[in-house]
Amino acid sequence: MGSDASSAADAMGVLRAAVPLQPDADLVLATGGGERGQVVGLVLVDVSNGFCTVGAGNLAPVTPNKQIEKMVDEAARLAKVFCERNWPVFAFLDTHYPDKPEPPFPPHCIIGSGEENFVPALEWLEKDPNVTIRRKDCIDGYLGAFEKDGSNVFSDWVAKFQIKTVLVLGICTDFCVLDFASSALAARNIGRVPPLEDVVIYSEGCATYNLPVEVARSMQGTLAHPQDLMHHMGLYMAKSRGAKVVDRIII
Ligand SMILES: [Zn+2]
Repeated sequence: MGSDASSAADAMGVLRAAVPLQPDADLVLATGGGERGQVVGLVLVDVSNGFCTVGAGNLAPVTPNKQIEKMVDEAARLAKVFCERNWPVFAFLDTHYPDKPEPPFPPHCIIGSGEENFVPALEWLEKDPNVTIRRKDCIDGYLGAFEKDGSNVFSDWVAKFQIKTVLVLGICTDFCVLDFASSALAARNIGRVPPLEDVVIYSEGCATYNLPVEVARSMQGTLAHPQDLMHHMGLYMAKSRGAKVVDRIII
């Protein structure tokens, strides 16, 4: 192990001791419904080329990344299970117009670039009638699901299928996944998304990007973003807002 890798491991040890994250009970996806026979909906957040495919754009990984690869594999695996069982799936895809920037981020997922589309392993979702796709142009998917008339595509989906639990996977753990989970929980608390009860985040099905401090130092005005630490903090923050965080799904 090199010094960078060992200091990163040390930092994770310190973080885990300071803000320990105990996983919630495994989520059981029994046929005929979730744990208590209730409907579970799958929510996929931005599993698109612009965030996941090597070299696909300004916010895509520059080299193969294990955490992101695992997230994509788990998203593909669970999406298949849900669609085979005819269980509802909702997918956010970050999608931007070229003349409408999203500071502080560089241009990404511009319409027509291909970055805004599903990764190859999930392309089939585009045509699956079981899937509701919402293209959004902001970090927070719940906010991005509002229509001009004040209705909300996510809330309508939850109501249509009488979903009590949403299972959330995607990228980035500490940006779009966290913001979506926080807003969905706040909306639940004020009765905006009935009959939703639980927001469950699958830790192994989430990922974030990696920008080590040594690299960030050479890029003026750029915040460091060590992947494992920020992934952990994203899950921790989501849990502190009331999400359940599980590390195993029982199919
Ligand atoms: Zn964006």
